[in-house]
Amino acid sequence: MRSIYLDHSATTPVDPRVVEAMLPYFSEIYGNASSSHVFGRQAESAIEDAREAVARVLGCKPSEVIFTGCGSESDNLAVRGAAWAASQQGRGTHLITSPIEHGAVGKTVEQLAGLQGFDRTILPVEPDGTVTPEAFRAACRPDTTVASIMYANNEVGTIEPIAELAAIARERGIVFHTDAVQAGGQLDLNVDRLGVDLLSLSAHKFYGPKGVGVLYVREGVELTPSQTGGGHERGLRAGTHNTPLIVGLAKALTLAYEELETRTAYLQALRDQLIEGVLSRIPNAQLTGHPTRRLPSHASFVFDGLGEADLLTALSLKGISASAASACKAGTAQPSGVLLALGYAPELAATSLRLTVGIHTTPDDIDYTVETLAAIIRKRTRHNTAYPASA
Ligand code: PLP
Repeated sequence: MRSIYLDHSATTPVDPRVVEAMLPYFSEIYGNASSSHVFGRQAESAIEDAREAVARVLGCKPSEVIFTGCGSESDNLAVRGAAWAASQQGRGTHLITSPIEHGAVGKTVEQLAGLQGFDRTILPVEPDGTVTPEAFRAACRPDTTVASIMYANNEVGTIEPIAELAAIARERGIVFHTDAVQAGGQLDLNVDRLGVDLLSLSAHKFYGPKGVGVLYVREGVELTPSQTGGGHERGLRAGTHNTPLIVGLAKALTLAYEELETRTAYLQALRDQLIEGVLSRIPNAQLTGHPTRRLPSHASFVFDGLGEADLLTALSLKGISASAASACKAGTAQPSGVLLALGYAPELAATSLRLTVGIHTTPDDIDYTVETLAAIIRKRTRHNTAYPASA
């Protein structure tokens, strides 16, 4: 049976060139980067080379690159760290975010509000998933200290107008964080063009290893660490450096941006083939997210009248690995909070399907997926009179 992986927003396979770069750091160059002897110096030098490589892609100083244990940790450090620092300095306790953030931002803001009395505004979003500059401007207050808006959404793929939002924040002295975990390897990450103060990345989304992330911290932006201990990473992230993973992250990011144009053109062509195929072959399919301002890899749909059909299992039985923007709990589909925030009715939101292509996906994989999906939906849609007789 065929095996087609269309879940690259969840994670990507590690590029063999990345594996090769990492290997010596497991058992040959294994020193602790904090040790002063030769073993430690070798590891430290690999980490500083990796920091410089990341800084080249971000257009920042190496000292502004902080290595973390994952994208979630970067988000936690950014939001909690900036909110705590501002509040300790008496600058205010109002935070702004969107209802479509990953839990690493959303739940951190909720915790700051619930446990520590921070005030927060959750912005409205457009039906296509866009956070508008107007809504953002209207939410800013004199006591707003931190705003966190994702660069691209993980469920519907919409790309947010980060440069415009960050400019509004900067005029008001608000620290602006963006979760760029889904954008990494696909969109421009130059922090000055974006104008952001804090930016999170995770290596496993761009053909690097799992369990390693980056937080870009603009010089002068103050963060209070939550993971305290040794003075690693400028005191912002205690813990012995994971040299192989840091080397792998830097290698994967460098490759992604050296090959950016060819990779994104290829992904976009596959994505468009998929979207066109699904929309033309499946009459009750609707694209979710923005029609054009979306990640090159990302296609996401809901299916009118489909009811509680378990699409993922049906696709999986045909060899297609995909994901839904909803989590299945005890057999009942929980509609995605993102789609509800976009205004979808719970019944429609519960039919969501996310198909994300990668650099190893082929046009033939897409044809097979469209045909298979069309057959599954045709069989399961309650109101299948909507189909033309030939479909
Ligand atoms: N932010 C977004 C938008 C994501 O999609 C993810 C992972 O899916 C994360 C953060 C968390 O990254 P990690 O898996 O490295 O913790």
